[in-house]
Amino acid sequence: SVTDQAFVTLATNDIYCQGALVLGQSLRRHRLTRKLVVLITPQVSSLLRVILSKVFDEVIEVNLIDSADYIHLAFLRRPELGLTLTKLHCWTLTHYSKCVFLDADTLVLSNVDELFDRGEFSAAPDPGWPDCFNSGVFVFQPSLHTHKLLLQHAMEHGSFDGADQGLLNSFFRNWSTADIHKHLPFIYNLSSNTMYTYSPAFKQFGSSAKVVHFLGSTKPWNYKYNPQSGSVLEQGSASSSQHQAVFLHLWWTIYQNNVLPLYK
Ligand code: UDP
Ligand code: MN
Repeated sequence: SVTDQAFVTLATNDIYCQGALVLGQSLRRHRLTRKLVVLITPQVSSLLRVILSKVFDEVIEVNLIDSADYIHLAFLRRPELGLTLTKLHCWTLTHYSKCVFLDADTLVLSNVDELFDRGEFSAAPDPGWPDCFNSGVFVFQPSLHTHKLLLQHAMEHGSFDGADQGLLNSFFRNWSTADIHKHLPFIYNLSSNTMYTYSPAFKQFGSSAKVVHFLGSTKPWNYKYNPQSGSVLEQGSASSSQHQAVFLHLWWTIYQNNVLPLYK
């Protein structure tokens, strides 16, 4: 295995920890060859820290308030970017030479080690605006220097969408034109709940998805699951497509079989 490379995710509360645990177990199901790291914040309970440590090689608490001076300063000057700055903390993991960041609301469907052949900054197009990348899955190279530049950028320009995706897209602004190798194929960040307007392409390529991203306001943990029948129950309005139903079902199966037993 490669010990100086890692998959990294982030969970700032016990709810997002459930997503991180399913993601971690989904990575472990497909011959894991890299380290698994989760960044957490002080709000995460001690119980969840114990559970996370059963799945992740490293559980690293990130506390913006008593971080290095330059982080502290960036946070104080732009408190609304708190969560965004937390995600940027992944650049401080300098004991790794290269990492793949995955949102806690993603699910890995097969081995994705080939992502480590890519360089910084690689990401897949956003389904809503394909000249921007989606920041739910990206390849990066930890560096305190880059981290500092990102924070400087955040302080000076903020984020055009108020979150990490806007900030990262304006920082890595030549992503869409500079180097095609930094465009990850869409199958590495397939949004499960987007209604694709190019449905023949979805029919042709959707089944080769390697990473599914449950982006948007309704996360898998917002649904109800019946462990007896193994069915995922719809909550609220949006009825899921056939494909989304398959991915939701997989998320809940992993939760039931590979996450809940960790609490025993
Ligand atoms: N996140 C978190 N706590 C929150 C919101 C977000 O830990 O309260 C982390 C988590 O890793 C999440 C990522 O930030 O996957 C991005 O947020 P989200 O996935 O909710 O945004 P979306 O992908 O729907 O735009
Ligand atoms: Mn997400």
